[in-house]
Amino acid sequence: MKRRWAEQIGIKTEQFDVEPIVTQWQLEEEIDSRNKDSTVHGILVQHPLPPHIDEDRILERLGAKKDVDGFTPESLGRLASGLPGFRCATPLGILTLLDHYQISLSGKRAVIIGRSRIVGKPAALMLLEANATVTIAHSKTVDLPALCREADILVAAVGRPEFVKAEWIRPGSVVIDAGYNKVAWRDGDVGDVDFGPASEVASWITPVPGGVGPMTVASLLANVVQAAEQTLR
Ligand code: NAP
Repeated sequence: MKRRWAEQIGIKTEQFDVEPIVTQWQLEEEIDSRNKDSTVHGILVQHPLPPHIDEDRILERLGAKKDVDGFTPESLGRLASGLPGFRCATPLGILTLLDHYQISLSGKRAVIIGRSRIVGKPAALMLLEANATVTIAHSKTVDLPALCREADILVAAVGRPEFVKAEWIRPGSVVIDAGYNKVAWRDGDVGDVDFGPASEVASWITPVPGGVGPMTVASLLANVVQAAEQTLR
């Protein structure tokens, strides 16, 4: 979907497949050469990489300048420090959705379930930047349902189908479902929230499919356009 949408808006794409024969050293060389190439505006490392590749080293090598997915250590450090830089595509999509529907965040209580570096942590930092009061939950959190019931904004980034139940949701709150999970019982993806019952309690809720997934791709492409514009200045 990312490549197709990119081509549709005139972004040229090139795919480098990390097959089992590609070594750590070769992949680092590829990153270096594209970092130096002024015709390349953005580099996306599709997660997860094969187990023989050290992903942390690859992301460090990529740096922040062309990191249009916004999750290298440098980009996340810039986000945490409040410095300009590319913001992680999935949380950026979430913030754009909230902004589009004029859902105010200032002073609101946000609970994020999940602390990954591609969704949970950057989403927490971006909601904090937007003046929400943020709590991050994870697999060791005690009494998750009670914590979720405190949320004005509940973000689910867990990777477990229909994990968040309607009883966990405070009536009138806003529920953002970042999950997409393949399941045997249904064609297509299922979110991390039990959508049907949850949609009767929440004031706003994002569906899966739809919702956060397409917003992630749109945000990624917006970052590429921004990267290209920066080279023209
Ligand atoms: P991940 O790296 O596996 O992280 C999952 C997080 O959920 C972890 O922090 C984990 O806690 C927490 N968790 C797991 N079980 C839990 C439980 N029982 N109670 C509370 N927390 C629990 O996953 P991810 O990469 O962030 O992805 C999360 C979901 O978002 C997946 O469905 C993925 O497909 C989806 N996703 C969507 C997009 C998009 O474009 N829409 C992009 C990326 C990911 P611990 O840290 O304690 O293990």
